Amino acid sequence: MDGQNPRAIKQRLQSLADAGVQSLPKRRRTATSVAAPAASATPPTPTRDAAAAPADRVRSLAILRQQVVDCTRCSELAATRTQTVFGVGRPDARLCFFGEAPGADEDASGEPFVGRAGQLLTKIIEACTLSRDDVYILNVLKCRPPGNRTPLPDEVANCRTFFERQFATIAPEFICCLGTTAAQALLQTTEPIGKLRRRWFTYGSAQVICTYHPSYLLRNPAAKRDVWDDMKLLMAKMGLPVPQ
Ligand code: URA
Repeated sequence: MDGQNPRAIKQRLQSLADAGVQSLPKRRRTATSVAAPAASATPPTPTRDAAAAPADRVRSLAILRQQVVDCTRCSELAATRTQTVFGVGRPDARLCFFGEAPGADEDASGEPFVGRAGQLLTKIIEACTLSRDDVYILNVLKCRPPGNRTPLPDEVANCRTFFERQFATIAPEFICCLGTTAAQALLQTTEPIGKLRRRWFTYGSAQVICTYHPSYLLRNPAAKRDVWDDMKLLMAKMGLPVPQ
């Protein structure tokens, strides 16, 4: 936390404490993760038992949302965004859906996954016998990359502290990564999405599954069958009834 102002440090320690984080690593791992509370290999995700009460989670997320609003680390994104897109859903959701970055519709509305890909994600969630209100939806990047280009490595590094702290606060039991960018960012791997599907990973105390991004399904509808297979794995692991 060297080089940050005392107010930012105090806010950060408070939100981490609210999320149940009791100790911090002695040293930062990378130069880019300026405000990163912990390395991703050991993310600051508390177990659900140790997680904060819902009201504390709401407060921590509100503090974090404001920090995202104020963020200008990626000068191009900060200059071109209409607004930041933080995340939406239950602050104590068992399941988080983790996407790539806002598109034009999300940049305009401030809510993740509201465009065509978002409507498809909503259908996928409902096919899992859940609703958008039951889960939490967030992206790797909180700003729209111009022209919807793929996020740059520096941009992912700059946003890492935000998505890690969202996960630390929500403490989900399950995370579903949507597409390559989300899966590679969370799991810190370069393996392609096709190789990451059908396997279980852990991130802190969360169990992680990866599937294709809804935008990919819009271009390749035949892959919907693969996503449904992944969702059935997820539902079974969550103890939800699996439609046949
Ligand atoms: N694609 C994403 O990855 N996230 C959104 O919010 C919308 C489209």
